[in-house]
Amino acid sequence: MFDAILIEKTETGQSARLARLSPDQLPQGDVAVDVGWSTLNYKDALAITGASPVVRSFPMVPGIDLAGRVAASDHPDFRPGDRVVLNGWGVGERHWGGLAGQARLNGDWLIPLPETLSTRAAMAIGTAGYTAMLCVLALERHGITPASGEVVVTGAAGGVGSIATALLARRGYQVAAVTGRPAEADYLRHLGAATIVDRAELSAPGKPLARERWAGAVDVAGGTVLANVLAAMRYRGVVAACGLAAGMDLPTTVAPFILRGVTLAGIDSVMCPKPERMAAWSHLAQELDLALLEGMTTEIALGDVIATAPAFLKGQIRGRIVVPLD
Ligand code: NDP
Repeated sequence: MFDAILIEKTETGQSARLARLSPDQLPQGDVAVDVGWSTLNYKDALAITGASPVVRSFPMVPGIDLAGRVAASDHPDFRPGDRVVLNGWGVGERHWGGLAGQARLNGDWLIPLPETLSTRAAMAIGTAGYTAMLCVLALERHGITPASGEVVVTGAAGGVGSIATALLARRGYQVAAVTGRPAEADYLRHLGAATIVDRAELSAPGKPLARERWAGAVDVAGGTVLANVLAAMRYRGVVAACGLAAGMDLPTTVAPFILRGVTLAGIDSVMCPKPERMAAWSHLAQELDLALLEGMTTEIALGDVIATAPAFLKGQIRGRIVVPLD
């Protein structure tokens, strides 16, 4: 038997509770994993609170991320004892996820954990960090380098934003960190931000084009914030858009695209092809300062997960949260 968060359908919607499950309740899959660590991402908070229809079938064990050791495998790439990490693929949405002591999964979804990373560090990175790296790689694929100019990161004190700030600074970029929490300015400078931008500057509807400020952007906000970021990009700037913390809409015009040649690069971590995942994790293992990562990480018990989830929706989480499971 093992502990898990379980989301069940109710007459009025859904409810989440801490449950005891047995391995024979797990869904089908060719690899069984003893989960060592999981984490909480924004999407897990949406799933647990039911604020958005993230959960596609009930009952559901949430958790879009897990890291642990293979317990049993019928998959040619994995053997018992292998250290693995999983992000996305609908896990925690359609297939039981990582907020449980054990998981049974499709081995094609797993990637071997880079040797230099502990399972705890892998979850401190989690989907948030892996997505941050996908954003950085997208900016560079579209031609942005540290010489291009300042790169702005929105939601900088959150999970994706904290790791994007640290990764960009490490690669030599000047980082402008946008935050709605001025009290986190020192934290963001410690991660490598050169400039702190008050989120309020980007939250009200603005003009189609504004003063050219940034060469690149990692945006977790969407909505009016993203529209204002697009309007303030320099000529041929590139924006990696991955989130909707400010909203699902995008009240913009074509002006940044047709007058300044701005590129809007969409980032999806869930179905991202395996070679790109492996590349992102390899870069993370080589580049992310593990002491900085630890400094942005908070550990909570599985029993505190349900009570913690609403704080994501209020934008109150700083950095990353990890959850031990063994
Ligand atoms: P967090 O809650 O850790 O961070 C989000 C941050 O956004 C907050 O900390 C806050 O930072 C900022 N924020 C909150 N509300 C607003 C608002 N109204 N306007 C502008 N900024 C706001 O979440 P994650 O980092 O885990 O995820 C961030 C976003 O990225 C989410 O929307 C998530 O769904 C998305 N995401 C998408 C992925 C993909 O595959 N495309 C993968 C991973 C995440 P501050 O206080 O510093 O302003």
